[in-house]
Amino acid sequence: MAWIDPDFPRTATPSDLVGRVLGLNPGMMTGPGTNTYLVGRRQPILIDTGAGIEGYVPLLEGYLKSHGVERPLRVVLTHRHVDHLGGVAHLCARYPGLPVAKMIHRDAGLPGGIEDLRDGQAIEGDGVTLVPIHTPGHASDHLCYYLVEEKALFSGDVILSGSTSVIPAGDGDLADYMASLRRLQGLDIRRIYSAHGPVIEDGPGRIQEYIDHRLARERQILEALGDRLETIPDMVSRIYADISPKLHKVAAMSVESHLRKLARDGRVREHVEPNAPSRWELL
Ligand SMILES: [Zn+2]
Repeated sequence: MAWIDPDFPRTATPSDLVGRVLGLNPGMMTGPGTNTYLVGRRQPILIDTGAGIEGYVPLLEGYLKSHGVERPLRVVLTHRHVDHLGGVAHLCARYPGLPVAKMIHRDAGLPGGIEDLRDGQAIEGDGVTLVPIHTPGHASDHLCYYLVEEKALFSGDVILSGSTSVIPAGDGDLADYMASLRRLQGLDIRRIYSAHGPVIEDGPGRIQEYIDHRLARERQILEALGDRLETIPDMVSRIYADISPKLHKVAAMSVESHLRKLARDGRVREHVEPNAPSRWELL
């Protein structure tokens, strides 16, 4: 299936306890758009809010109505990126008094009224219990949510269906990300409900694939450095020879996240060059 699938359903009901409404924001980084999830029976908890696209609230409202639900109980966010948090203002305008929470961590300029949510601080809904799990790496404030009743994970942007997760320079951290994957690996997970793309039925298999993929990438980068490919663009053109050059910018972010981790591990060194890409060397 294509990453940006135009036929991806706008709403779906993947289980008795879980509904899904699409954020209507398809794109290179978001695939078919951001999934928002309704969790619980009559008064569902909403996980994430999309990017703030005009048609989203009416779509959500229609879905709730068709299930005999008046309004969401509360909103919890996976992280601060705009395609997850951007719909908060529209939702709060439509549902006055709607509580919104996320892990508040290195945040500036959040919309007002967002409450802090901590790792392990379980949230009770209507027939559901969601446990927030701090999973930094893609973003330092990232929470996944574990649905106890289904042994399912709402993985936000940590695990995606159809793409690898991006580790942005600055707030992203590959070492943290690997630790987050290992932590998730230790949980009893069946399904994964990702923020982008369809349901992942084999949760543990996908987590293992993600770990293997990163380890393989690290090996390729060490090999490239061993062959004296010193700059990120040079490494990208070798390692990503088979992908569209349109994606090379994202690929460069991925290579950089690996190099920064390797530098912290004491295995490579960066030489910053004026007006040119940094040169990297093995230690
Ligand atoms: Zn994100």
